[in-house]
Amino acid sequence: MNSIIAIVGRPNVGKSTFFNRLVQKREAIVDAVSGVTRDRHYGKSDWNGKEFSIIDTGGYTIGSDDIFEEEIRKQVALAIDEADIIVFVVDVEDGITPMDAEVAKILRKVKKPIFIAVNKVDNAMRAANAVEFYNLGLGDYHTISSINGSGTGDLLDAITKKI
Ligand code: GDP
Ligand code: MG
Repeated sequence: MNSIIAIVGRPNVGKSTFFNRLVQKREAIVDAVSGVTRDRHYGKSDWNGKEFSIIDTGGYTIGSDDIFEEEIRKQVALAIDEADIIVFVVDVEDGITPMDAEVAKILRKVKKPIFIAVNKVDNAMRAANAVEFYNLGLGDYHTISSINGSGTGDLLDAITKKI
């Protein structure tokens, strides 16, 4: 059976950039401005000879913080339902935000494999800043740069072990 991997996280952390790297096609739309309305995107990829489907969650609406958070909760809930494996993307530049903590709280109750991808770790200096993400209470994390690809291979190795 084709495993489904869902990419979740608040806007602007780099979910679509990561998705694009995996599907190697510009299927997801990357926005410099956070919160632009987008639909969910589905793609296919393979790694280590294992095929899988990927969902890039988006669909956030410009509006109040309340709408934002409600949207994100909805997207996370959908992803949890649909997916076999969840990749929770966070941003090393911002650290843990209240919305990250909110998503983490939901994910802590989920009995599916969850991988934390600390994104925007473009260089070794930034890797040291990633330690704070232990405080999400979801265990170990992977540092990645969706832009230059560093760390993404190790993350995919770990993910495909669960497929
Ligand atoms: P999404 O809202 O979570 O889907 O985030 P996007 O993929 O649209 O990316 C939001 C912004 O972060 C864009 O300006 C990206 O170019 C930037 N970005 C994504 N990944 C990285 C990364 O690994 N390093 C850096 N420095 N910027 C990144
Ligand atoms: Mg996006």
